[in-house]
Amino acid sequence: MIRLTTPLIEEDDLEAVRDALASGYLVQGRHVACLEAGLATWTASEHVVVVSSGTAALHLALLGLGIGRGSRVAVPAYSFLATANVVELVGAEPVFVDVETETFAMDPAALARAHAAAPVDVVMPVHPFGHVADMAGLAAAAPGAVVVEDAAAALGARRGGVPAGAFGAAGCFSFHPRKALTTGEGGAITTADPDLARRLRALRNHGLDPDAAAPDFVMAGLNYRMTDVQAALGTTQLAKFGRIVDGRRAAVARYDRLLAGTAVRTPPTAPGSEPVWQSYLVLLPEGRHVADLVPALRAKGVEAQIGTYHMPLTSHFRARTGTRPGDFPGTDLVAARALALPLSPTITAAEQEEVAARLLEAL
Ligand SMILES: *Cc1c(COP(=O)(O)O)cnc(C)c1O
Repeated sequence: MIRLTTPLIEEDDLEAVRDALASGYLVQGRHVACLEAGLATWTASEHVVVVSSGTAALHLALLGLGIGRGSRVAVPAYSFLATANVVELVGAEPVFVDVETETFAMDPAALARAHAAAPVDVVMPVHPFGHVADMAGLAAAAPGAVVVEDAAAALGARRGGVPAGAFGAAGCFSFHPRKALTTGEGGAITTADPDLARRLRALRNHGLDPDAAAPDFVMAGLNYRMTDVQAALGTTQLAKFGRIVDGRRAAVARYDRLLAGTAVRTPPTAPGSEPVWQSYLVLLPEGRHVADLVPALRAKGVEAQIGTYHMPLTSHFRARTGTRPGDFPGTDLVAARALALPLSPTITAAEQEEVAARLLEAL
């Protein structure tokens, strides 16, 4: 089976984890601080707070910004469920916004319509599959709204030279193995605001004041800490992150060549955008459905996958919002026809040729 993705775990990663375990300091040691410093450089952010997952990052960003009951938070309709779940769990209302079929990102025109109908307090765009969303367009579509980036899949991506995580009041990253950089489970929040960073550090650690000399608990908090073992892995992964991204970009260029002029649409890159390619999504021709292609490709030894989820049509949010097919036409289209192909920094040209051949054969 040609796997959907495999993380690049090498000898130095194994050694770093072994050393962290052998040191006896498994949490809150030097590796967490080291990873935070490295991420600050990659994201051009003043402050980075690493946490236990991307979902924890999103949850803490909303809590830290005081977003809760009475807040309306715009989220793209096409995303992983964590994006909308955290909004509901802090007591705020997720406002689903349709996506562009070209970029899979929140559509500024759809956001402007939602904001005109009933103003939103927060915009939480996703940088889909490692491409930064049109942040200028989205900010202009909902003037006055606070921006929180769901940059879970976009570490290292840039648009107009600005890195993901440096556009909003806070940026949230994930280090799940499906992302380009992994710590097993893990996440991080970026911000330029020192007061927010301090609140986030307290919130991830039971409300403990991060600066007080003697333990003092200054708010209700959670345990969303990353272990030092994971941070040690993150640090070696970050040291080779340039190579990981280069490998993904080379594989993307190969797929683009293999699939040019075929029945599938290869994924476009917006002008000025430097994606990190968390996934490579092709759009199937009209009338074909990912629900048929995923099993057909598995039967041929290729682990393909849907892009992500039509959130307002999942049972929970459909019941909450009364969404019906047709309400989000862009999301309807990409949820039916966007297919993720196997992609990793070490995928070989022969494997990619095999994927392309089996895909065209299945169509
Ligand atoms: C992966 C992902 C998340 C969740 O991150 P976890 O680390 O798995 O909790 C949230 N939003 C998006 C867009 C993601 O891709």
